[in-house]
Amino acid sequence: MPLYTDELVGAFVTPPIALPQLVPSRTCLQCDVCCRFPDPDSALRPYFTENEITRALTGGVKKTAFPNQRGSQVILAPEPHGDGYLCPAFDAANSTCRIYEQRPLDCQLYPLALMWDEPHDQVLLGWDTKCPFMREEIPREIQCHADRVMALLDQPGIRDQVVANPRLIGRFQEEVVVLAHLPCLTEAVAGQWGPAPLHRLTLDDIPRVTTALDQSGWCRTQSLAAYSPVYHYMWNGLLAYWCMELQGAFCLFAQSPDGWFMPLPPIGAGSIDAPLCDAMELLRRWNGDSPVSRVENVPSQLVPELERLGYRLTPKEPDYLYRATDLAALAGDRYKSQRALCNRFEREQSFEMDSYRVSDRQDCRALLADWSRQKRAEGLEAFGAILLTDAAPAHEVIWSQASALRVTGRIVTTHGRLCAYTFGYWLTSATFCVLLEVTDRTLPGLAQYLFRETCRTAMAEGAEYMNAMDDAGLPGLRASKQAYHPLMLIPNFVASPARES
Ligand code: SF4
Repeated sequence: MPLYTDELVGAFVTPPIALPQLVPSRTCLQCDVCCRFPDPDSALRPYFTENEITRALTGGVKKTAFPNQRGSQVILAPEPHGDGYLCPAFDAANSTCRIYEQRPLDCQLYPLALMWDEPHDQVLLGWDTKCPFMREEIPREIQCHADRVMALLDQPGIRDQVVANPRLIGRFQEEVVVLAHLPCLTEAVAGQWGPAPLHRLTLDDIPRVTTALDQSGWCRTQSLAAYSPVYHYMWNGLLAYWCMELQGAFCLFAQSPDGWFMPLPPIGAGSIDAPLCDAMELLRRWNGDSPVSRVENVPSQLVPELERLGYRLTPKEPDYLYRATDLAALAGDRYKSQRALCNRFEREQSFEMDSYRVSDRQDCRALLADWSRQKRAEGLEAFGAILLTDAAPAHEVIWSQASALRVTGRIVTTHGRLCAYTFGYWLTSATFCVLLEVTDRTLPGLAQYLFRETCRTAMAEGAEYMNAMDDAGLPGLRASKQAYHPLMLIPNFVASPARES
């Protein structure tokens, strides 16, 4: 395919592939399905390849919509006057795509879709029954259209694009009617990525991750907060999370802008030796010899085993673990300042505390925006500002999927206005992890009050320990976590393959 220079970005990009369209545009303009999504982590949000991202940027889509400039699903924007989410290229005022001529292959295919079969070993072409036109259209026309598209998918240009971007192939979905198996594409994908089926992490995988964690025995009262599926799943809107079974172990992979890594060691009942060896082989294949190949969140009990296997272990920020009784009581001199702030908040404010409901999502969004502004105005360090920007899609996932993810949330309102929220989850029946906490920083004592009440509620429900996660290396966060006098810092390591000298 010929290259051309794009004047605006000064980069060489390939021109967009043009697939034939079956649905007439007048039908599309009247429909309210495409380009709109119920959840921020919707599996159907479009995937943009590197070239498609370059073209979308020239079409005015912001760089921040793409967590990985080398290819990623787009980050959806909350609908301004509704509960759902929109593709950032969608113009809601006139229901059109602002980059229609440059839209990605994923969108050009629709309402056809590439997906894996249920056991994840064959690539299929199907059509989405959610498209109203496809529901009414006669099957023969759909099949003819699919035949034309299949012929194009077998051409090297398009096939190579799909092989290089396997996220274009979605997970099996019941509402997508299967039209054909694509053996050539299946073979080409297996040739590049290996025969073992790698698939995107979705909500359906959460029970499997939980079972594997239970079997591994690493999820204990004093374990890292990362030994829970929600800890990883919440980043699924920002990074690309994938999973696969290797040698009987469940392996989680994350695709970051720098390359692929494992956010957890292989998990399951058996030894990690063989699955880790296979997983590292895959990382080498995907990343080359880039140092990005690594395993994160390695607990201390695995360190001797990984050292024996020849890995380099580097400590990273530990988790802060507290005794629940300490934080619920805030008794004694060492908690004097936190206690005073709680008292001040109770004395000065008229407020209510309640359980989070999905209908609070808009108010949470407004508070997060205010809180981010307040933090920046206070002179947040550059790394902290980046973390804040990255965190917004993760908060969106929690707001919309809290109950499916078994995350509990509480909100505080003053005079009917939401001024704080917090979310957390049970790591074990005795350890509660505080996942998110956002408070209006103009209300003195609110943060301390909310944290104490979270601990009191958790303790009433059986918590002996509170895990407040790590401090991300931010000095301000470290100081405030230390000020609560942790019972222990849970060691956390990164394992990297030893470099050949
Ligand atoms: S890129 Fe265009 S066609 Fe594709 S989802 Fe976004 S708005 Fe719709």
